[in-house]
Amino acid sequence: PFDVLVVGGGPAGSSAAIYAARKGIRTGVVAERFGGQVMDTMAIENFISVKATTGPKLVASLEEHVKEYGVEVITEQRAANIIDAEETTDGYIHVELESGAVLKARTVITSTGARWREMNVPGEQAYRNKGVAYCPHCDGPLFKGKKTAVIGGGNSGIEAAIDLAGIVEHVTVLEFADTLRADQVLIDKANATPNIDIIKMAQTTQVLGDGNRVTGLEYKDRNTGELKQIELAGIFVQIGLMPNSEWLKGTNVELSPRGEIEIDAHGATSMNGVFAAGDVTTVPYKQIIIAMGEGAKASLGAFDYLIRNPAP
Ligand code: FAD
Repeated sequence: PFDVLVVGGGPAGSSAAIYAARKGIRTGVVAERFGGQVMDTMAIENFISVKATTGPKLVASLEEHVKEYGVEVITEQRAANIIDAEETTDGYIHVELESGAVLKARTVITSTGARWREMNVPGEQAYRNKGVAYCPHCDGPLFKGKKTAVIGGGNSGIEAAIDLAGIVEHVTVLEFADTLRADQVLIDKANATPNIDIIKMAQTTQVLGDGNRVTGLEYKDRNTGELKQIELAGIFVQIGLMPNSEWLKGTNVELSPRGEIEIDAHGATSMNGVFAAGDVTTVPYKQIIIAMGEGAKASLGAFDYLIRNPAP
């Protein structure tokens, strides 16, 4: 059995694994895909102390750092369930994989991340990282002085529009419904910002491009059924960030109404010996540097737990 088993191999999981392994304890990582969302990222310019890098480069460094410590890394495996040590006959926490295998550990750190909800329209995949973006904090500056759109009029969409309006030339917000779901204070701020336009009852139907980059988008005016086009360089999709926590539903690991794992100041969850870190948790602001800090914190939390609780 592992002393620390990390589920998820993104920045949070990598950081947790390194912090654990440096304590000289048996550490494992099980992940569907090492690197997580960072593998899907082209330009990274806000990983402090590294002026500019790419996702695949950062993942290669993460992997090299994790392997330096003899961490057992198991990839292409998905966790399907977790069983409380109090309910197992051997006193270890069990992590059941979709393959049917069971990994046993004294502590588990869950860092299974999150995924952006996609529009599922033609052109979205083809122009991902070529104008289609999901993270305004990350990619906003790439569209300096250009026209952009934000898809989604909830809090994250309107926040993104206000944020982008300070950087880009113009922002068009497209909302599917006839009302915005954002807080009134944000709506008022957006309405008062001269370079933000809000179009309601607008269903995005297509991302337009020239083969290399986004050049615009097409939407259906849901009042008239008419198809309209807007010329722009960037599209920020803000229709929801979904935590990869489905596998924990129905377990003793408590989730928030949005499905995020509830954690305390030490990264501990409601299940004894189980910690969590990064985008899958209730931590505000989902960023690489934050996920790494959270991973380190959860790992130190797990180590504290290990030295206070005897092995089964
Ligand atoms: P993730 O990176 O999501 O990693 C989750 C890990 O868990 C993966 O290994 C995954 O395979 C695994 N996993 C999921 N479910 C299971 C399961 N059931 N069983 C086993 N393994 C599982 N942030 C920045 O700071 N700067 C940027 O420039 C930036 N750009 C971004 C661009 C894009 C396109 C995207 C999508 C995100 C960007 N982000 C950026 C956000 C950043 O990538 C995330 O905040 C960060 O990766 C979160 O790390 P994490 O370890 O919590 O989760």
